[in-house]
Parts: sequence; structure tokens; C-alpha cells
Amino acid sequence: MPKKKLNLILLGVDSLRADRMSCYGYHRQTTPHLDKFASQGVRFAQNFSPHIPTTSAYSSMLTGLDAFSTTVVALRHKGTLPDQVKTLPEFLREAGYDTSCVGFTGNPASRGFDVYHNFSGWGNWASGRSPKAENLNAVAIPELERMAAQDQPFFLFLRHMDPHSPYLPPGPFERMFYSKDECAPGNPSMKPVMSFKPFCDYFAEWMPPGITDIDYVVAQYDGAVAYMDACIQRLLTRVEELGLAENTLVVLNGDHGETLDEHDCWFDHHGMYENTLHVPLIMRLPGVLPTGQTVPGMTLHQDLVPSLLELMGIRTKIKFDGSSLLPLIRGQQASNYSDFYITECTWMRKHGWRTPEWKLMVALEPDFHFKPPVELYNLLKDPLELNNLADQEPQLVTHLRQRMETWIARREKATGRPNPMYTNLDWHGKDGVGPFKTSQQAYDTMHIGSVGTANKLQAGNKAKAKKTLRKKR
Ligand SMILES: [Zn+2]
Repeated sequence: MPKKKLNLILLGVDSLRADRMSCYGYHRQTTPHLDKFASQGVRFAQNFSPHIPTTSAYSSMLTGLDAFSTTVVALRHKGTLPDQVKTLPEFLREAGYDTSCVGFTGNPASRGFDVYHNFSGWGNWASGRSPKAENLNAVAIPELERMAAQDQPFFLFLRHMDPHSPYLPPGPFERMFYSKDECAPGNPSMKPVMSFKPFCDYFAEWMPPGITDIDYVVAQYDGAVAYMDACIQRLLTRVEELGLAENTLVVLNGDHGETLDEHDCWFDHHGMYENTLHVPLIMRLPGVLPTGQTVPGMTLHQDLVPSLLELMGIRTKIKFDGSSLLPLIRGQQASNYSDFYITECTWMRKHGWRTPEWKLMVALEPDFHFKPPVELYNLLKDPLELNNLADQEPQLVTHLRQRMETWIARREKATGRPNPMYTNLDWHGKDGVGPFKTSQQAYDTMHIGSVGTANKLQAGNKAKAKKTLRKKR
């Protein structure tokens, strides 16, 4: 009798930084259930999101391609994926799978599912604590039950909105990592956050009125991770109860990380620092994948699809930019990359080059933080990236820049297209404005607006979002 095809459940967790999970070494026990899940499978210790933010990250995660091939680099990407690009649900539908997507529409890479479900994944201070992950489960678990009851194999993709901002985890997670008075007078820690004009209206809508302690907001992020972890366990319990555990590949991957109180980037996911690039990847498939294994080599989003298809026995002639992770799991290969190209295009347009030791960041136009145009960090001696060595190490900057430029030229030649980082000139959503001339212009122009506007930006409802942005200013 032929072996039954594997099911796939992919948890795409928005804004989850690897280093805030206890299984990745965080000192707070934020993810007890995912720690156990990781002990039942394989954890990739150095997995990166090379193309932040959401839109570009999921495009690579769900196609096996880099940004040169997907053409997607900007949050506000216009248009779809190129016609020849195939998404994971499109591969699996062809292979006879029932495919279902929860909480992910409006992204070029969300193309190709049979069914789309949505849930409420935002919130604000006025409406109280936000049970995003329970809202997700309320949709996802009945969908899982429906899919489990049929003969057809299934692919269920869940896009988690914890710990994406607003960080409003319900109790007891709100106080799990915080015992002080978040509005205590005399604490200046929130002043720079609330005086950052591009984001302050957004923060005021979901942070406690009168907040003075930045540690509270950080603890809300950690609480949201713990809340998500508990809700994912609810889902894993149901997978077990439905008898699916043995025949279902379950994968957790972050789209990008999050900046908290670091680098003046304030509770968002821009800045190509390690906190936004380093994301978790964990895979579990009993009897096939080893248990409790940690893969130390460098891996990227585009490695996921070729790995999943190989594990699921689905063949394709498509040549991916990423490579299968299975040789790393088997110990046949140490790493998929020696160094790699990184991009960001949400609130700043920058690119760079990362090696195991160094990170180069180059601004393609002035940014709204008034940061230097070139940043260079030694990741081994300065893992928090606090000491910019660009001025002290000009030869190293030139060397890394040359490696980056050579790579860009190679990929442009291979795809027959210019680097999408060079052509997305209205990436900020202000049509016709083009690249910012000064940091002041960027600072005066960029503005998140309300929680509703942020939601619409991500949902691809761009026309409406722009209208609201204009009205607010
Ligand atoms: Zn995201």
C-alpha cells in the first residue's frame, strides 16, 4: 500500500525574534511549549530573514526564492509575483493537497490557496487586551478538524499576529514579566519613544496612557510571545487528539524579528540589526526528522520551500535560489551560506552584506533616524551592534561592499532584471516623491498613523491606507 502523503502545518509567526524564545537561549522562559516542540524536532540556530519586512520576507519563505527572483523588497509592494514564480500552496495543490490559509491576504506570496480565513489580529488600548492568537485558533482549529476528516492530504498555513504590535497580550501574560509601576513619575525611559514623531500617534493608541517605563513595553512583547506559545500548544494538542501528529510535518518560522528598545528603532521591525534578521525555524516530523537536534549553520528563508518539498517527496524542475536544509540535518554540510545579501524597505531603504563575523549596512537614501549612511559591526566582538566601525575600517567596508556589488551584478545578470532595491523608489508609499533627499524630509514625511492604518498597510488595502495617512497629517 502506498504511504499516505504527509500533511503540512506551517506557522508563520509575525515579528518573532529568535533570541526572545527560551529555546534560543532567552533568560525568560517565554516559550515552554515551543521548547518542548523543538525538543521533538530540529531547531535551526542561525536562521535569517534576509529581506525584511513582512511582504518581502513571506515572499521568500513561501517561494524558495530571493528578492531578485520574487522582485519583492518593499512593505508596500505594488503588483504580484512574476508569473513564472510558484508559491508553496501552488506546488501542493498540484500535488493533490487541500490548502488553507488563515490570516494572510494582500501579500503577493499569499497567492494560490484554496481557502482564505481571517481573524482579528490587531487591537488598541481603548478596546482592551487583544486575544489575537485565540482569535486565530477559533478559526484555525475548526479548519484543522475539517481538513483532518477528509482523505485528501492538507496544507494549513497560519499567520500569527502575536507578537506583532500592538503588544496587548491578555492576562496573565500582561504581568508575567513585569511587576513595577509602568506609569511611575520621574522615569524618562519612554521620552525618546513618545517624541519620535513618525510613530508616536500609533504608540499612543495602544500603549497605556501616561506610560513612563520602557521595560513595561518590552515585557508586553515577551508576554505576547508567551501568550502565542500557549495558544500554539492548544493547536498542537488538537493535532495530537486528531491522530495527525505522526503524519504531519509541523514547521514554525518567523517572518522577521522586532526591534524593542534598541537602536532607536522603537518597537517595530526596521533596521537590519540582528534583532530583526535572526528568526526562529523549527521543524518536527516524528520518525523522519531527528529529535532534539540543533543545526548551527547559517540558513535563510529561501531554504524552506525546497526543504519542505524534499521532505514531502514532491519533485519539481524549478531551480530555487535557496537550498534544501536536509544535508545540514544529516550532518553532510555545515552551512548553506558563507555570507549573504540583506535588504530592508519599510521605513528606510537600505541593503547590506552579512558574514559570520561582520555586517555592513549601506543606506540607499537618507533615513528618518538620521543614522550614518554606512554602518559596520563586528558581530563577534559587538553582538549588540553598538559600535559602528565604518570610519575606522574603510578597507573592510570597501571589501564587503565589493562582495555585495559583485553578488548584485551576478543576480541581476541571472534574472535579467535590475536589483528591485534600485527600482522601488516610491517604496514609502508617497507616489511620485521618489528617494528622500535628507533625513529631515524622511522624518517629516513618514508616519504610521493609527492602528487601523497600520493594519491596512499590511493587508494590501493600499488605496484606503493612503487616504487615511493624508487625512491624519
Ligand atoms: Zn511581519
